[in-house]
Amino acid sequence: MEIFKLIPPQDPRVQTLVAPFSDDMLKDTDIKDRKELSDKMFKTMNKYSGLGLSANQCGLPFRMFVMGDNLLLENRRKITAFNPKIIPKLPTDLRYREQVLMKEGCLTFPFLFLNISRPRIVEVEYEDIDGKVIKEDLDGMFSRIYQHEYDHMQGIVFTDRVSKLKLDMAKKKQMKMVKEYAKKVGNHMSEGGKKS
Ligand SMILES: [Zn+2]
Repeated sequence: MEIFKLIPPQDPRVQTLVAPFSDDMLKDTDIKDRKELSDKMFKTMNKYSGLGLSANQCGLPFRMFVMGDNLLLENRRKITAFNPKIIPKLPTDLRYREQVLMKEGCLTFPFLFLNISRPRIVEVEYEDIDGKVIKEDLDGMFSRIYQHEYDHMQGIVFTDRVSKLKLDMAKKKQMKMVKEYAKKVGNHMSEGGKKS
């Protein structure tokens, strides 16, 4: 099974609200069903060492994302969410009020990391690969990843959630890391060249 291609951040498909998913949308594609789409999404996510991936990051017009499948998270639990929702809460509902600051990355923006404040716990609702509706509370990293991927469904990327100043600073660090990475890869290649 091949993997999907990631599209660049300036592509409008990653900045547009995604319409609700229905199974007949797959009819005109070579993807057989929800399971096959989900498997290929996980394969793509794992290839790039991500913790979550939305279909529109691959240029696909499907309101769905995958997340998890990591040894360090929730016993390697995987979530495939079709038509995901976050249930709105009143400010008086104390359980959902706490906000936490966490560093996030995104496969659409390699080497860019941003500190973003979001609710610690969210109540979510989504359809799984069998079309069954799941409703549950998410906490910790799973809550964080779900909220990040849900933003993608709305055409929101994480750079939209910080000030210009914060973003500029993070971009400087990103450039440094990209250069270091390029140097490492370059050195590695020349070493390989010497050997042969
Ligand atoms: Zn992302």
